[in-house]
Amino acid sequence: MSKVVIIGAGGVGNVVAHKCAQLVDVFSDIVLASRTKSKCDAIAADIKSSLNRDIKTAAVDADNVAELTALLKQEQPKLVINVALPYQDLSIMDACLEAGVDYLDTANYEPLDTAKFEYKWQWAYQDKFKKAGLTALLGSGFDPGATNVFTAYLAKHYFDEIETLDIIDVNGGDHGYPFATNFNPEINIREVTADCRHFENGQFVTTPAMSTKAAFTCPEEIGDFTIYRLYHEELESLAKHYPSLKRAQFWMSFSDNYLKHLEVLGNVGMTGIEPVDYKGQKIVPIQFLAQLLPDPASLGPRTKGKTCIGCVVTGIKDGEKKTYYLYNICDHEACYAEVKSQAISYTTGVPAMIGAKMMLQGHWKQPGVWNMEQLNPDPFMADMNQYGLPWKVIELKDFALN
Ligand code: NDP
Repeated sequence: MSKVVIIGAGGVGNVVAHKCAQLVDVFSDIVLASRTKSKCDAIAADIKSSLNRDIKTAAVDADNVAELTALLKQEQPKLVINVALPYQDLSIMDACLEAGVDYLDTANYEPLDTAKFEYKWQWAYQDKFKKAGLTALLGSGFDPGATNVFTAYLAKHYFDEIETLDIIDVNGGDHGYPFATNFNPEINIREVTADCRHFENGQFVTTPAMSTKAAFTCPEEIGDFTIYRLYHEELESLAKHYPSLKRAQFWMSFSDNYLKHLEVLGNVGMTGIEPVDYKGQKIVPIQFLAQLLPDPASLGPRTKGKTCIGCVVTGIKDGEKKTYYLYNICDHEACYAEVKSQAISYTTGVPAMIGAKMMLQGHWKQPGVWNMEQLNPDPFMADMNQYGLPWKVIELKDFALN
């Protein structure tokens, strides 16, 4: 019997709740808690009608450690799955320590007033979790998450030593809106407007946002895309845990339309994170913009096309230089048919469920704070195939980006 509390009832929370509810043997009791309880209730009603399963719902402000601790002490779950926003990571980790509960999230902590995400704040919890005999699993989404495990799987089974890593996130989907983000608009825009950092020759190198692009052809006729280099949090942990890496980069596809809107919004100050005075009221431009944009959870029924996310790794095997590409392709419409969500939330929510399953089943249960690549990739990869995100490995010849 394993009870979980899921925190956050947005696009990702919806998928996690559905996927956990599908596995009654692993997730015997589910509590879905968020700031706005009506959103939890709507998801619970949907799960009742599609899976005939009851899940409990609750209102909680996860910024308030005492309030969340009280909920956890009352419910006594084995694990908290944090799919609220990165700003809540530390308060949820604190509440887990207070209540003696394991912890999992999908995005690393970012202070509200600084658009810079780093693992240092969460890695600082290592001793506290170890001492308490509790496990914290960081970044169990797709990227970070599956991409960390893909790297670990290639390193374990295909190489003696890995040398370069290119994580390539392509969204070939179309929602028909002139401009919308596929997950929380504030987090998404903060991510893509930040300076780019990539890892090269032992250090992170900073370049202006969106200043480096490349052409990439996805396999299985998904198509040709322009991909842009940007900083993504898994580069920090992967560069640390694979010291043989000479270069690690992250790339994401964007349409010209998306970039044009973003440029204009940036130029007029709408992506700013500093509060401005408006008629005596303090308004944070990016938060106001997020309010105007379509809710990512509403994109599901409109989005067509596929995502293709994977890792290209080069390295040495038996003295020979090799290049392998491990990827997943996910269809937006198929995701919607299964859990009423587009593929971005689906590809995040499924690895969150699998990470939780790894912990509850004991495969990944060890006291301390862990990034995904530090744990055995094999059971996770088997579950990706089984629970909706099948993957393939192909060898590439003459691969080059830039
Ligand atoms: P949404 O904005 O759709 O949902 C966030 C949810 O968290 C909402 O239900 C919101 O409640 C709730 N929430 C916010 N603040 C609090 C709080 N203080 N207490 C309780 N609940 C709160 O975001 P997404 O579902 O798109 O994303 C969820 C997480 O997943 C984010 O951290 C995001 O960065 C991460 N992510 C990770 C990816 C990966 O591959 N690793 C990819 C995509 C997303 P309310 O409705 O009241 O605002």
